[in-house]
Amino acid sequence: MTHTVIRGGRLVDGPADILIRADTIVEVGTFQIPPGVKEVDASGKLLHPGLINAHMHGHGNLAKGMGDRWTLELLLTAAPWTNGYRSLEDKYLSTLIGAAEMLMKGCTACYDLMAEFPTPSVEGLEAVGRAYRDAGMRAVVAPMVADLSFFEAIPGLMEALPPALQKEVERLRLAPYRTTLENMRKALHGWKFDRDEIKPAVAPTIPLHCNDEFLAGCGALARDYGVGLQTHLSESKVQAVSALKKYGRSLAAHMDALGLVGPNFTAAHGVWLDEEDMKRLSARGASVAHNPGSNMRLGSGIADMRAMLECGINVGIGTDGASSSDNLNMYEAMRIASLASKVRGPDWQRWITTQEVLQAATAGSAKALGFGDKLGRLAPGYKADIVFLDLGNVNWIPVNNSVNALVHTEDGSAVHSVMVGGRMVLENRRLANVDLGKIAREAENARERLERLNRDNKALYERLEPIVGTFCPALARQPLAINRYAAWR
Ligand SMILES: [Zn+2]
Repeated sequence: MTHTVIRGGRLVDGPADILIRADTIVEVGTFQIPPGVKEVDASGKLLHPGLINAHMHGHGNLAKGMGDRWTLELLLTAAPWTNGYRSLEDKYLSTLIGAAEMLMKGCTACYDLMAEFPTPSVEGLEAVGRAYRDAGMRAVVAPMVADLSFFEAIPGLMEALPPALQKEVERLRLAPYRTTLENMRKALHGWKFDRDEIKPAVAPTIPLHCNDEFLAGCGALARDYGVGLQTHLSESKVQAVSALKKYGRSLAAHMDALGLVGPNFTAAHGVWLDEEDMKRLSARGASVAHNPGSNMRLGSGIADMRAMLECGINVGIGTDGASSSDNLNMYEAMRIASLASKVRGPDWQRWITTQEVLQAATAGSAKALGFGDKLGRLAPGYKADIVFLDLGNVNWIPVNNSVNALVHTEDGSAVHSVMVGGRMVLENRRLANVDLGKIAREAENARERLERLNRDNKALYERLEPIVGTFCPALARQPLAINRYAAWR
């Protein structure tokens, strides 16, 4: 078994060497170096555990930067335009672009809620898994599924469309839920990747977009195959108001009543959770994937991470997809998580500390991914997923406090090398397994082709925008009986 020692590096709390056997850390600190080990020189480098992205969408990478002022609801309206007509090669390519970006920006594992229209396929999931494996990154791959279109999901929205548009959005209908459950079962059953590297999960996209039998079926699948479950929970106020109209209770209460909330459950966003919802998630041992950058970008509000931590919820940090964050930079996500807590109010003792942010973006996210005992720490028994930051980079001149600088100063430009499972996947700023020039050419070809194919979908979006863009904000203006933790004050 190969041994590697990383010598002369510095951890956030001081200098230490790291001994690795195969893909796992066996010692950290000062120790006798066994003979014949491979040495990696880490002098002048700060080493930190690979950052873990608790919520993103691999299919979004080809749609990076396509829009500016859109709410979550406008983004969902734009989905046929931004994600339409994707070939299997596009799905692979879009994922690979994201994997390359995340590795280059110090992130070694992610929870990918990938989409295929009108239903997920074994081949599509396989293409996404292959992209992560080829790049050398870990991922939880969860097909994002629904059986109701966005227009069917929001009470009253379909009726607000003129008949001609109603007819047009009818073609956006998704596959029957039984077909989708069957496809997911096939994929889970025949999963061929090493589950320590690429593992499957289940993601009913937004509870309102799935009928209750479908949601229960997703819960059963996750139980049968021992996998994770993630959903967008109370991301926007439109969702929170719609849930009260449709279920007469909050989304968290509804998901819990259907038996979906447990230790394997991750609520993405949770901007509009109230105190009772948070207590419920905490009591079930669930996680929240906090995406403050996306929440600002889409005007969804600012989730109360302090309240979540006080309730005892495990909190991870995510970037969300590249169409609502426009990058997958976990350093930026950490910085925004810190700053977002600070604009919530003047009570500075309730602000999130840089240590808490770093903890969330490593160990917190690891737990949300179901890798809590394997990832997120540089300690014996954990996988050797390690980021090497160049202390000669201007971000680190001078080094006053490593944790503060990691969260508030670092932006990814000091990332020098990245190791995943003891293997270098980025070395001296070059990706070991991805040819960026090649994917740039492929992406440009795909972009041109998709732009052409989706011309009608774009035109449809343009006709829908004024209606959705009026109806949904009106819904969001309705009062919501939310106690102590209001997302807007
Ligand atoms: Zn999302």
